[in-house]
Amino acid sequence: MKKRIAIIGSGIAGLTLGNLLLTNSEFEFVIYEKNNILDLNEGFGIQLSVNSIYVLNKIGFSQLNANEKYHPTQLDFYSINFDKICDLNLEIFNLENEKYTTLKRSTLIKFLKEKLLSNSIIFRKQVNKVEKNNEKINISFTDGSNDEVDFLIVSDGVFSNTKSILEKKFFKPKYYGAIAIRSQIKVEDISNLNSNNISLIMGDNAHLVLYPVNKKKEINLVCIIRKKSDVSDSIKKILENTILKENKNLANLFKEELKSWPIYTSSGPVKSFYKNVLYMGDAFYTFPPTLAQGASQSIESASEIFELISSDNENIQNEYFKKRVERTNVINKRSKFNYFGFHITNPILKIFRNLFLKRLVKNKSFIQSYLGKIYK
Ligand SMILES: Cc1cc2nc3c(=O)[nH]c(=O)nc-3n(C[C@H](O)[C@H](O)[C@H](O)COP(=O)(O)OP(=O)(O)OC[C@H]3O[C@@H](n4cnc5c(N)ncnc54)[C@H](O)[C@@H]3O)c2cc1C
Repeated sequence: MKKRIAIIGSGIAGLTLGNLLLTNSEFEFVIYEKNNILDLNEGFGIQLSVNSIYVLNKIGFSQLNANEKYHPTQLDFYSINFDKICDLNLEIFNLENEKYTTLKRSTLIKFLKEKLLSNSIIFRKQVNKVEKNNEKINISFTDGSNDEVDFLIVSDGVFSNTKSILEKKFFKPKYYGAIAIRSQIKVEDISNLNSNNISLIMGDNAHLVLYPVNKKKEINLVCIIRKKSDVSDSIKKILENTILKENKNLANLFKEELKSWPIYTSSGPVKSFYKNVLYMGDAFYTFPPTLAQGASQSIESASEIFELISSDNENIQNEYFKKRVERTNVINKRSKFNYFGFHITNPILKIFRNLFLKRLVKNKSFIQSYLGKIYK
């Protein structure tokens, strides 16, 4: 008998697991999604490091139209006045078929959706209750329907309402004390930067990241600014009171449509009360965005779950949890350290930071241990 898997949430994590399950005929699966449709128009960018490209290539990502993705080879560090501090060669992490990649999130979602059958995703579904039934999990949905499965994999994102329902406890993500402002801009607007590379501009309590998302060189801009409260203010006002005070020329980057949202992270990873329930992606742990690993870790966690449930392992939940927590701790520490380093305000500390950065980016063993471990 085939093992039946229910996946909750059709984000990057849920769709990746669906694609992996398609490669093993011992499984049947359904993805249950709260929304009516998948948003395929959203044009913001995403960076994927080689660790997740390795997984995606197993499901045909290397065949994705080459014009729809980009392989930046360098990360350039700048001060807020566009003075270049140093650069990091990203190619040292690349393998022959796995390369650091940037693309539009919607391109990735489209690719992940393409191979799934039309009935693999059921929309407008939310879990109401679960019950253990011998070795199985019985899921009741809010619309009155049911499903009985061997594994329930929860990937409903940072707010994971399903986790709160299952564990009978309210899990509230923590406001990280910062907001993200995103835009898509034209290559002409970044004449002070090298548009072939990823640019990281560091200011007081803020940083900006810009990179091309395809061969057409459409540029993604994300700006992270510290902000005490998560109550939304006018984006224009926030920019005027922060980075534009330091460099008014940055206004050129914020001419197009802007979107902003508060950044939340998880309080901590949770092992379910039910041994055949696993949390994946942001529902397992939501990272600060300063190592650009959220999506890559969603993909990695999907792959770990797939390998474990394919292996007839008796101890799936414990093994998955142990490995994921170890990985999460390392990435979380580095994301927080980057956040501190990118936002230094003290002028003397900035001089030291820049001196250190110049040395560290050329120190192969440091780079291999700081980033290579994450990207492997
Ligand atoms: C500013 C910013 C920049 C980022 N940049 C990068 C980057 O460059 N590289 C990178 O790797 N990561 C990046 N990330 C992180 C990355 O976007 C996320 O970590 C990743 O999308 C998480 O995927 P997921 O599938 O776990 O969750 P999500 O993408 O949030 O998907 C969850 C899905 O579950 C559905 N859902 C929600 N609730 C329910 C429910 N109750 N029942 C059913 N379905 C439900 C949602 O509708 C959604 O479809 C960034 C994040 C931020 C905030």
